[in-house]
Amino acid sequence: MHLTNAFLSSLQQPRRLLQGLAMGAAMLTLATPVVAQVEVGKSSAMRNLVPAETLEQAAVQQYGELLAQARQQGALAQPGNAQLQRLQTIAQRLIPQALAWNDRARSWKWEVNLIGSKQINAFCMPGGKIVFFTGLIDQLQLTDDEIAMVMGHEMAHALREHSREQLAKTQATDLGIRLGAAIFGLGDMGTAAANLGGKLLTLKFSRSDESDADLVGLEMAARAGYNPQASVTLWEKMGQANGGGGIGFLSTHPTGPDRIAKLQANVPKVAGLYEQARKR
Ligand SMILES: [Zn+2]
Repeated sequence: MHLTNAFLSSLQQPRRLLQGLAMGAAMLTLATPVVAQVEVGKSSAMRNLVPAETLEQAAVQQYGELLAQARQQGALAQPGNAQLQRLQTIAQRLIPQALAWNDRARSWKWEVNLIGSKQINAFCMPGGKIVFFTGLIDQLQLTDDEIAMVMGHEMAHALREHSREQLAKTQATDLGIRLGAAIFGLGDMGTAAANLGGKLLTLKFSRSDESDADLVGLEMAARAGYNPQASVTLWEKMGQANGGGGIGFLSTHPTGPDRIAKLQANVPKVAGLYEQARKR
């Protein structure tokens, strides 16, 4: 569950750090699709300090452990579960739209799972590993369009490799804390949550990365035939929801007039894509 020592020491060696930065600046920026309607900046060169393969492997392990713990608790939705099928249908429409944003995504083994939990939470880990918590869908009474906006947003974090960037910045030194304890409320929640700082599932992204994920997610969802106006209603609902603190989505995704206004301003840019997709 721990990242390799080589990875950790690479974060601590100034020489490697400089090489990584230089390399990143020189050649390894993530492309924005030429046809993109929303305007987002280049990806940060910082992310090149954390190899994509390493992070994707760590994500697969953590995802597997999370699912195993959910299964043990009887909280993992089984095939045939109606809500799970709903999520899978939405993912199947979004995934083809994701590939334009990151070449690596073609080889990702995308997965969608649903965990029964009151938490308002959802994420997409590097490598395309998606989890929704029932609390998000039920408490906010999300429509399919709104679910597509959350899923698109989370997929965008993975596609735009925000975790790589954030881990490089925070030099997270221990991805190995067992997350189940914090997520399922086992043990000392406060300590567990504190220990989780800088960990993969609980990374808090920068404001600009959040905005980036909002817009990329918005465009992907519109291209997949989901109503872009749902991005606005989604965040209005988020703003009214009570997250109850902790490590859920609301604590890492502050919403406010700025966020909603920016989405609203971008809705017209992708409205044509949505109309086209609906006709298909
Ligand atoms: Zn986000």
